[in-house]
Amino acid sequence: MLMAYCYRVYPTNVQQRTLRRQFGSVRFVYNYFLALQQKRFEDKKKHLSFFDMCRELVELKRTDDYSWLYQTNSQSLYEGLKNLDASYQNFFQKRAGHPRFKSRRNGHQSMAYTQGSFLDGNHLHIPKLGRVKIRLSRSFRGKIKTVTLKKTPTHKYFVSILVDDGKPMPKPIKEITHVSGVDLGLKDFATVASETETTKHENPRFYTQLLPKLRREQRSLSRKVKSSHRYRQQRKKVARLHEKVAHARQDYLHKLSTKLVRENQAVIVENLNVRGLVKNRRLAKHILDVAWGEFVRQLVYKCQRTGKHLVKVDRFYPSSKTCSECSVKNEELTLHDRVWMCPSCGVELDRDQNAAQNLRAEGIYQLTEMRYIFDNRREDVRLGARSFLALLRSTQQSSMKRAGSASMPSSEMAQISN
Ligand SMILES: [Zn+2]
Repeated sequence: MLMAYCYRVYPTNVQQRTLRRQFGSVRFVYNYFLALQQKRFEDKKKHLSFFDMCRELVELKRTDDYSWLYQTNSQSLYEGLKNLDASYQNFFQKRAGHPRFKSRRNGHQSMAYTQGSFLDGNHLHIPKLGRVKIRLSRSFRGKIKTVTLKKTPTHKYFVSILVDDGKPMPKPIKEITHVSGVDLGLKDFATVASETETTKHENPRFYTQLLPKLRREQRSLSRKVKSSHRYRQQRKKVARLHEKVAHARQDYLHKLSTKLVRENQAVIVENLNVRGLVKNRRLAKHILDVAWGEFVRQLVYKCQRTGKHLVKVDRFYPSSKTCSECSVKNEELTLHDRVWMCPSCGVELDRDQNAAQNLRAEGIYQLTEMRYIFDNRREDVRLGARSFLALLRSTQQSSMKRAGSASMPSSEMAQISN
């Protein structure tokens, strides 16, 4: 199983200078081939594959003008080309825009090493750089696959070490007793429905909180003369603020995702179309600030490496509009209704709590359909076997409409209602 670990490293001044050159070489190769591909496109020539580019690179290094590329670890240059190729593949498959040229000024610099790195006490050995001091904040066991060295806009250095521990990925857990449904929102970051309660996790809005300060420092930056000493100092100050936001957010997301995965065998989320939502200009800033995408990414990998289940419920599933008590759909519900009364059974429902409950029920249904055993007797007491069954039937019907002919075996139906 592959695991990534991130550590801070402290290259010496000499090493930092070497790194600046090496980052530059990786960036040069990336930009050189991006320009080449563009030229070939204009000349109506065939797009170069990754291997074509590698071959070209070998030729390039042999010429006198570019022999300085030998000073950089060749694997890192290939990794740079691999990134370019991946960007092009994303572009061809319409997942992203056209690859762009990398700039020296664009804060984050990185390069990858696929061979020859090893730990040596408090030092990490990196090819063509030497021993770099590392702060091993946590230990790991296994074989180092890739080391990615990064420099942040605040001039800090980090390595991300990809480790293979030689163990197989754990098999998905068969018997599920604890399931949480998670509704992601703007006002509350997450509303979590478990078997006994629903909990709201407030949206900390790290970016919005620091926005006045950021604006002030940004204004001060724009008044300074470009590339002057004060300009560079101020730019670092702005970068530090951004870094502060990013760290606080990551910390918050990791704590919540770890807690959720630790306490459940299955976590149910809505399959959000973040990119579609961000197109809404008024909401974009807030949505990027809450970082749902990153949160779901963490849940996915944390579930994967513990054999737990992450169910993404189709985003067209009416989780908000359906009453979690009697499963009647309220078509008149609008986005502004935070609390509503079910027209059928008269129960008062909190919008997010209700949605989380419904996601949970839909997730349990999908898990039983995949033949996982959901076994929790307390569940029936709380929901009432009848209403739970009714909900199952209605989600079954809606999913039958979606999937065509999905049906639930009666034995599993009995398992849930017993
Ligand atoms: Zn109802």
